[in-house]
Amino acid sequence: LFISFEGIDGSGKSTQARVLADALRGRGHDVVLTREPGGSPGAEEIRRLVLTGATDRWSAETETLLFTAARRDHLEKTILPALAAGQIVITDRFADSTRAYQGATRGDLRGIVDALHALMIGREPDLTFVIDADPAASLTRGLARSTDELRFEEFGLPLQQKMRAVYLDIAHAQPQRCIVIDGAGTIDAVAARILTAFDAR
Ligand code: C5P
Repeated sequence: LFISFEGIDGSGKSTQARVLADALRGRGHDVVLTREPGGSPGAEEIRRLVLTGATDRWSAETETLLFTAARRDHLEKTILPALAAGQIVITDRFADSTRAYQGATRGDLRGIVDALHALMIGREPDLTFVIDADPAASLTRGLARSTDELRFEEFGLPLQQKMRAVYLDIAHAQPQRCIVIDGAGTIDAVAARILTAFDAR
């Protein structure tokens, strides 16, 4: 079983990915919790390349190639071996992040993103939780946390609002895979919504 968490920066998806991993481990499952960009040694190196330095260090196209390369390595080295071993894989971000960020924020690269995905990744999660959170509150949370990763410099409410809309579009286009979770309220409240939705599936 392959599960991803998606949502705008500061939406709480990393926390919820961890809480679901703990809940499933508590039920006796063998769970691998991982993240993107990163999730394998090589992909973590690419993460550093992409997320540090000036924001114009890479063009949108190059950035898309780097994120795809990182995902390919993550898939080969971490995700597929774990799935083959019968483990549950929970990843904090997967291909929807590239569809949303590279595909729609820095110009329209959706065609390139989809083509690269088909060519080099070709795998979707079985289940994706899209945490739908208030853009302004998420922005405050994201900014409070970020220091080293300069991408946050181009952070702002318009970007957060746009990303939220893009994520909801993705979720509505693939309802068999994506479940939109209301991200408002306490960690426990959101976690309970996720577990209820998980069990219903
Ligand atoms: O999820 P996390 O906070 O680790 O992501 C790090 C940064 O990378 C975030 O600012 C996010 O917006 C950015 N990102 C991106 N494109 C992706 C994935 C993440 O720009 N495909």
